[in-house]
Order: sequence, then structure tokens, then C-alpha cells
Amino acid sequence: LVRARNVQKSYGDNDVLKGIDLDVMPGEVVVILGPSGSGKSTFLRCINHLEDMNAGSIMVGDQQIGYELKNGSLQRLSPRNIARQRKEIGMVFQQFNLYPHMTVLQNIIEAPIGVHKESRAEATRHATELLATVGLSDKADAWPRHLSGGQQQRVAIARALAIRPKLMLFDEPTSALDPELVGEVLATMRTLADQGLTMVVVTHEIGFAREAADRVVFMDGGVVVEQGPPGKVLANPEHPRFQAFLSRFI
Ligand code: ATP
Ligand code: MG
Repeated sequence: LVRARNVQKSYGDNDVLKGIDLDVMPGEVVVILGPSGSGKSTFLRCINHLEDMNAGSIMVGDQQIGYELKNGSLQRLSPRNIARQRKEIGMVFQQFNLYPHMTVLQNIIEAPIGVHKESRAEATRHATELLATVGLSDKADAWPRHLSGGQQQRVAIARALAIRPKLMLFDEPTSALDPELVGEVLATMRTLADQGLTMVVVTHEIGFAREAADRVVFMDGGVVVEQGPPGKVLANPEHPRFQAFLSRFI
């Protein structure tokens, strides 16, 4: 579903991504680990075209992110078409950023109605289903400020799912939460993984990686240093930098 090749990104003379290659199969859950500043967020943002890359390519499905084939040559997409590509990719951030003046239900149905032109009835039906999935069926009419951080993040996940994305990106979704609220969000993500959603998850939750990931990818210094099934690479990391990184969690 995702095919990233030689993705490079610099900010000024800071080469943040130095040629990332990554494939994600449909239904696969890929967890990206790596130290702070290794380029994990930047890479996710490239997949979603929140960042322009300097070189390389990313395919999501049959679409090349940021480009389209026109009259036989590859051309940069217009902002409108970039928005169209982005509609197929859901993203959940560390900060959940719900609209404070909207109820939970309104937060979830806003994009399906406004952007995807779904009927209010259909968007509401789907939102109700999603609220059940994230375990918040009783909170449809609540205001975000009346919810705990963990509940707000689960609403944010439901909101991202409401656009029916074929790919979900998570950037440290539990890092801003109090420790006792992390588990409920990870459990929700686990449910989505079990349902077969294709997910790329940046997290420091090694337990989640061990239990939910099909593949773990270790990034450091803007490159993929090592990757493999969690049972293998978490237990027996080959690269010294990955060993050193993991030893901090034990
Ligand atoms: P963390 O675990 O702390 O979230 P990360 O792996 O997600 O780290 P990135 O956020 O991708 O790392 O940042 C990688 C590098 O890119 C850092 O050196 C950062 O300072 C730089 N960087 C990120 N965004 C920008 C930006 N908009 N402008 C300039 N530099 C940036
Ligand atoms: Mg980051």
C-alpha cells in the first residue's frame, strides 16, 4: 500500500531524511522506533504531503504523493489535488486538537460532511459506529474539555477514521498522555490493528510494538537502520545503535 523510495528531506543544511526506503503491505501494522530527532515525524509528514520532499518518491496505493501523471510526464499536483490525496490518509498526532466549540459527534462528522460530501445521516451513523469502536458510545454529545486526555485522543482517532482512510498514520499518539491513560489508547489502536487497518505508528511504547506490530522499523540519523518482525528485532537487535536504543527501555 505504501512504497517509499530514497525519500530525502533537508531543512537548510540539516539533512533530516537521507534516503528512506519503506514498504507497507495492505493490512500491515508498522511501528517506527528511533531516537528524538531521527526524522520519524518528518517522514510521516512526507507520506501525508504535509512536507515537500527534496528527492525520492512515495506511492500510496496507485497514487504518487504530490505528483500525477499527465500527458505521459510526472507533474506536481495542485493544492486541490494534494488535498484529495490527503483525504485517503488519516493522521493522529501527539496533540489531539479537537475543535473545542464542537461536541464529540460534531468533531467526527465535520470532515465527512464538509469535505467528503456525505449526508449528515450517513456521517452520523458511521460516527456512532466509530465511537463504539473506540469505546466512547456514551460521549457523542460531550464537549472535548469534559473528556480526559485518553478519551480526547480516542475521539481524535475516531475523527481520523471518519474519512474512511486506507492508511492511518500515528505520530506518538500517547506521548502527551498521563501514564494511566496510555493503555486505553493503545488498546483502541490494537483493536484497529486486529480489524486489519493499515497503520504506520511512531511510538516509544515498545510493548505495543511487540504485541501489535507486524514489523518494527528502527530509524536513526535519517535512515532506516534495521527492520524486521518484532519477535526477532526487539529480542535480538543486530545493529549496535538499535541495541543501545532498546537497552534504555529495559
Ligand atoms: P521526536 O522523537 O523528538 O519527535 P523525530 O524523530 O520525530 O523526533 P523530527 O521531528 O522528524 O524528528 O525532526 C528531525 C529533525 O528535523 C530535527 O533536527 C528537527 O530539528 C528538524 N526539523 C523538523 N521540522 C523542522 C522544520 N519545520 N524546520 C526546520 N527543522 C525541522
Ligand atoms: Mg516526532
